[in-house]
Amino acid sequence: MNKISNHLPTAELQALDAAHHVHPFSTQAELAERGARVITRADGCWLTDSDGETILDAMAGLWCVNIGYGRDELAEVAAQQMRELPYYNTFFMTTHVPVIALSKKLAELAPGNLNHVMYSSSGSEANDTNLRLVRTYWAEKGKPEKQVIISRWNAYHGSSVGSGSLGGMKGMHAQGGLPIPGIHHIDQPDWWNEGGDMSPEDFGLERAQQLEKAILELGEDKVAAFIAEPIQGAGGVIVPPATYWPEIQRICDKYEILLIADEVICGFGRTGKWFGSETVGIRPDIMTIAKGLSSGYQPIGGSILSDEVAAVIGATEFNHGYTYSGHPVAAAVALENLRILEEEGVVARFGAQTAPYLKEKFQSLADHPMVGEANIVGGMGSLALTPDKASRAKFAAPAGTVGYMVRERCFANNLVMRHVGDRMIISPPLVITNEEVDTLIERARLSLDEAYEKVKAEGLF
Ligand code: PMP
Repeated sequence: MNKISNHLPTAELQALDAAHHVHPFSTQAELAERGARVITRADGCWLTDSDGETILDAMAGLWCVNIGYGRDELAEVAAQQMRELPYYNTFFMTTHVPVIALSKKLAELAPGNLNHVMYSSSGSEANDTNLRLVRTYWAEKGKPEKQVIISRWNAYHGSSVGSGSLGGMKGMHAQGGLPIPGIHHIDQPDWWNEGGDMSPEDFGLERAQQLEKAILELGEDKVAAFIAEPIQGAGGVIVPPATYWPEIQRICDKYEILLIADEVICGFGRTGKWFGSETVGIRPDIMTIAKGLSSGYQPIGGSILSDEVAAVIGATEFNHGYTYSGHPVAAAVALENLRILEEEGVVARFGAQTAPYLKEKFQSLADHPMVGEANIVGGMGSLALTPDKASRAKFAAPAGTVGYMVRERCFANNLVMRHVGDRMIISPPLVITNEEVDTLIERARLSLDEAYEKVKAEGLF
């Protein structure tokens, strides 16, 4: 019998956790010393920890709980599906009703000619699928030389060997021998950090044109695809200048390069529309989905393919798939999540009402002495911290020092906000109310004020 319960003292849970659980993206030794925060329940936008504190989750978990916590309908659907058909695979000429229904719904929701879904259990797996899929696509079209995938530095596309290679996180590449061959990285459209004296518009064009340069250098006949998030999330919520995406689309069209939009964060209402591709005005050939697809209630992801890509891949046996591709319980829960997002008008209301309110309030933080830029699209927001707004200067401390200080104060003030270097980022559940937005902003400002005192005391300002 499992004797570990929510009712054990926090310190005991923390000690057991540190003894036997290895955490992702964490320094285990530090975690053992400080003790992880134990989350026991959640409802709407609020988490409860083992000490009974209630915490406003301005990150929707890991950018995924779009629908908010505590929706019984999803639990009911999962229980019912487990009773009826808890598992069956979709290999070898077999299918089941939940995966049929979910695929039909996704084809309806996805823009343009994106009508075919290949499933995974996560974004990482879906991007691994994409990697093999685009190469297979070109081989099937008689162009087996078209193998290279172009991505961007500071992109995040997952943690597996393939998706971690597609990503451009140097800290990840340094561990475990990444990237694998055949992946080429260009610079990101991060005007705040890398734009120098250029206007955002010129800089956006220059960064997009790096794609064209790379294609010409590598050879048009060697490049299979370009992958990018409409708006980079884990990289720090980097909102590209308006000139960036139209130029990327032009280049992909001109050189016949498949465009993969990684919508793992941007999808399912996060940017104020159903998909980030719609927000930035692009026509991807493939979209990577996960997270908001099930609002994190079940692990499920996938690749949505255009009619053309699906037709080419469908003409051969693509030797690829996962035991849990299209898992019936995950598919049923995802479908119920999409039903609620659509029928209750969660996405529509967020885009039309909450997002403009959130934008106004979030941007008001730009008057804080440490905030240089408050950028937000839909429900993806980022504060760039700086000791000097005019010159967009960096602090005289290793990158992330001040971001970490702010995050610590947020944590103490019962607000989950994340720091990426010296940027503070948010991605709240789409069901957040205006009052909760006010609380978010109050707590963020308080945390910034408290950290500011420390930053000054340490001579960093
Ligand atoms: N792509 C993007 C854009 C992501 O943000 C993430 C996860 N943060 C992934 C892929 C990987 O998804 P997962 O963690 O589900 O493997």
